[in-house]
Amino acid sequence: MISQDLIEQARERIASHVLRTPLTRSTSLSERIGAQVSLKLEHRQLTGSFKLRGATNAVLQLSRLERDRGVIAASTGNHGRALSHAARAVGSCATICMSRLVPENKVSEIRRLGATIRIVGSSQDDAQEEVERLVAEDGLSMIPPFDHPHVIAGQGTVGLEIVEEVPEVATVLVPLSGGGLAAGVAAAVKAMRPEAKVIGVTMDRGAAMKASIDAGHPVQVKEYRSLADSLGGGIGLGNGWTFRMCKALLDDIVLVNEGAIAAGIRHAYEHERELVEGAGAVGIAALLSGKLAHPKGPVAVILSGQNIDMTLHRKIINGTI
Ligand SMILES: *Cc1c(COP(=O)(O)O)cnc(C)c1O
Repeated sequence: MISQDLIEQARERIASHVLRTPLTRSTSLSERIGAQVSLKLEHRQLTGSFKLRGATNAVLQLSRLERDRGVIAASTGNHGRALSHAARAVGSCATICMSRLVPENKVSEIRRLGATIRIVGSSQDDAQEEVERLVAEDGLSMIPPFDHPHVIAGQGTVGLEIVEEVPEVATVLVPLSGGGLAAGVAAAVKAMRPEAKVIGVTMDRGAAMKASIDAGHPVQVKEYRSLADSLGGGIGLGNGWTFRMCKALLDDIVLVNEGAIAAGIRHAYEHERELVEGAGAVGIAALLSGKLAHPKGPVAVILSGQNIDMTLHRKIINGTI
């Protein structure tokens, strides 16, 4: 388990490298739910997602020699982007392995950040195999997207900020895939406010953490295309951290479908004036779709990322998707 102490240390370590993102009241969601709803605007984080927190916390703990050799990860996009940014900030260089399913806008952004890109296979697991080969052959340091204590502690800093701003928070909705964000946020929130419920939200197709918790051990799931592309991928059959933490700390996992995710993106844009990607909209989607009928307030919803293809965003806003 990651302690509150480690998360506090992470916050100090990364403070000068990341933004403390705003937390705002949502009038329209509060009225709709009948409880106070606040939005943690983490999609406005540098690089467009919370992933910068964990990546920065991990890179800053590497030795000079390790930084010189470089860092490597498999990524569906946002972690690769964050790691590229974090590596560059400390004078290191990132190699990013990703599957063919990753949208072109995310690939080109990572290329722009100066990283070396390798596109392999059609799943996160294929990309991960390539990472392991390069770690063994070239001595690069692997910084995984979620299953690493420094990464989890970094993501947990989002939870500290939420509880500081809404000390009486009763429900926190966290977008969930590999579980780095959910594990870190749940550890921070529950340490400071044990009675609060932390609920993971993910898409209904290929929900790896949900399937794994139901099975009692990490399982592989089929990957599908989704508007929430940042939530794709498995949790790793050899998962060492996030599976146990999510199993122990999450009060529930809620699944939302593609229509609900599109409605969440639209709501964010039209009613909150926020531009979010699919993964960043699943918390709003859960509230709007009635999947979480009467969450206890105050509710905090994490908007986790903004890196959506703008043509796709326009289609969703216009209702043609
Ligand atoms: C990575 C990511 C998630 C899921 O985070 P995990 O730590 O893998 O559970 C959610 N939203 C966005 C925007 C992401 O990039």
